[in-house]
Amino acid sequence: MSGTKKALRCPTCRTLVMEEDENFPFCSDRCRGIDLGKWASGGYRISSPILDPEVLEGLGGDATARGDHDEQD
Ligand SMILES: [Zn+2]
Repeated sequence: MSGTKKALRCPTCRTLVMEEDENFPFCSDRCRGIDLGKWASGGYRISSPILDPEVLEGLGGDATARGDHDEQD
């Protein structure tokens, strides 16, 4: 019997990587990092709403403005 193992080529350096490899589908942790770096600096820009200045201002302002300020005596 010949078991068929899944294998893909490393997206970074095109090395054949077996499915059982811990870094699959990358050949190494280094290649994984390189690919992630491409995503971060490339055309794929994920804008997080949390990092939006307006959102931060709204959250912060609301939190501080509606604090417990009942000491008006
Ligand atoms: Zn690689």
